[in-house]
Amino acid sequence: MSIKENLENVKQNIANAAIKTGKKPEDITLVMATKTVDVDRIREAIKAGGNIIGENKIQEALKKYQELKDEKVEWHFIGHLQTNKVKDALKFAHMIHSVDRLPLAEKLDHRLMQEVRSLDILVQVNTSHEESKYGIEPEKAISLIKQIAKYDTLNIRGLMTIGLFTKDEVKIRKCFKVLKALCDTIVTEGIDRVQMDYLSMGMTNDYQIAIEEGANMVRIGTAIFGARNTPDAYYWPSEKKDQ
Ligand SMILES: *Cc1c(COP(=O)(O)O)cnc(C)c1O
Repeated sequence: MSIKENLENVKQNIANAAIKTGKKPEDITLVMATKTVDVDRIREAIKAGGNIIGENKIQEALKKYQELKDEKVEWHFIGHLQTNKVKDALKFAHMIHSVDRLPLAEKLDHRLMQEVRSLDILVQVNTSHEESKYGIEPEKAISLIKQIAKYDTLNIRGLMTIGLFTKDEVKIRKCFKVLKALCDTIVTEGIDRVQMDYLSMGMTNDYQIAIEEGANMVRIGTAIFGARNTPDAYYWPSEKKDQ
């Protein structure tokens, strides 16, 4: 199937899942996860109506950004962000989904102050407790969010998580429930300068489940572009070198 057909299918599935949970199809934002996808195929997806690109690696994103500069799309950074790559991330990213520690927030703030602007961010939460995934532990998330909220340059717009990789739907659902509950708690607490507009959760294998559990932003690659050759381990290194 073509990218256009794939995208139409995904959008239909999103719409169905949204309606099932009493939401409107347009309430769900689709981020096209474009890691390993070349610019020609990305252009095809843009032409078919995709309007947000999510990239995982800074170098790869910058290269594509140069080539796709004239396209009217929003760029999201969804991969692990090393503090020494902050300056480069800010060259293209309209939103960063993966803020998960204070030193990173501090570095972003420092750089954004120099550029005299602010940035929309999501706080990444590790709801699956897998070593190979980044994100703050759910128990520590609120404390981190309160600290990040002190930086005027960072607009916390919501939360992001990657569900557990398993065929066990109950376990996947549990991850999403944890993120939704955390979101609700934050809303109830009413933390100054913190908005919970977006719950970024759900990928090719679990986006319908995620939407049922409250996601309003999904990040989908494989279902749109087909299987990748590069193993995900390259994009999600298991060693946490940069904490
Ligand atoms: C690759 C990736 C996705 C999309 O994964 P698919 O299974 O291909 O849909 C979503 N989120 C993040 C953070 C990713 O790295």
